[in-house]
Amino acid sequence: MESVDILIIGQGPAGLSSAIYTARAGMRTLILGCAPKVAGDYEIDNYFGFTETITGKELIERGKAQAAKFGADIRCDRVLGIHQDDAGAFVAKTEDKQIKAASIILATGVSRIRPGISNLADYEGKGVSYCVSCDGFFMRGKPVMVVGEGNFAANQALELLQYTPDVKVCSQGKELSISEEFLYRLEESNIPVLEGKIATLAGDNGLEKVHLESGEQIDAQGLFVAMGQASSSDFAYSLGLVRNGQFIETDRDQRTNVPGIFAAGDCVGRFLQISVAVGEGALAGRAAISHVKERRRTLLDKEAK
Ligand code: FAD
Repeated sequence: MESVDILIIGQGPAGLSSAIYTARAGMRTLILGCAPKVAGDYEIDNYFGFTETITGKELIERGKAQAAKFGADIRCDRVLGIHQDDAGAFVAKTEDKQIKAASIILATGVSRIRPGISNLADYEGKGVSYCVSCDGFFMRGKPVMVVGEGNFAANQALELLQYTPDVKVCSQGKELSISEEFLYRLEESNIPVLEGKIATLAGDNGLEKVHLESGEQIDAQGLFVAMGQASSSDFAYSLGLVRNGQFIETDRDQRTNVPGIFAAGDCVGRFLQISVAVGEGALAGRAAISHVKERRRTLLDKEAK
């Protein structure tokens, strides 16, 4: 398995700024993510030092070139899930591979796509979940459905097979963006992919059925929301990070409550601006460098004993 010192999830201002610090300090740094929303022909007028407006695209291109100059490896790949192994390292599963990291910086911006089910909130904690690794266990042997149109949803559905053979995916009326490989694995595992849209949920003591707009009713005691790509909230659920609504809580050094995991930029939700993302990215980079150095010292001490 590929192994790095610091894995940065997000190629926006926060992630790239972190990488400039971590790569420059000699840390093996990998940045995953693809072009952020701001990397278009948008004029950025309020970023320090640019008297002429600069486009978001150019600013991001410059940030990428600067991080790459110091040795950061930058790839367009999406992270589907993260877990911590027995030795305390983090393992990120991407659409392509698995990557081990001593530390992770979450710089994923904000984007939780809601499925648009009228009474979803009534069933949160009563069958509706955002985290297979947290709640899959409670669904042993029960019929469950994953709502989502992409590889993130497909991966969640496959993970649910550990707990129950009765798993379905519903794209919520969206065009499917599941890769051929994931479609093949779903088919092989007898997980049907429905392209209808869930209108409402039903059940007296927790979720029992989903009602599709077409009028069809399907048994489901668990509904796992996995729309679009995995967001910082999804990583927060599975890693046990403290959140404030959809945002991740950090201290002044961008440390989360889980040692080795840092967060910066819009996903922390302070002031959703490039300058703040860049500043928090620098702080997260510095804190991640200290964490990796400390971890190396601890491992060396253990080896010496
Ligand atoms: P983002 O820039 O949102 O980057 C998030 C990154 O995370 C992306 O690379 C994405 O691909 C990646 N990612 C997410 N999920 C995953 C996953 N599962 N796996 C891998 N990667 C993932 N701010 C200003 O200060 N001035 C402006 O003029 C301004 N104009 C704006 C115009 C537009 C159109 C937009 C959308 C925003 C604008 N902003 C502006 C706000 C600014 O863009 C954000 O505050 C800033 O980009 C936040 O940076 P970030 O690095 O936290 O997140």
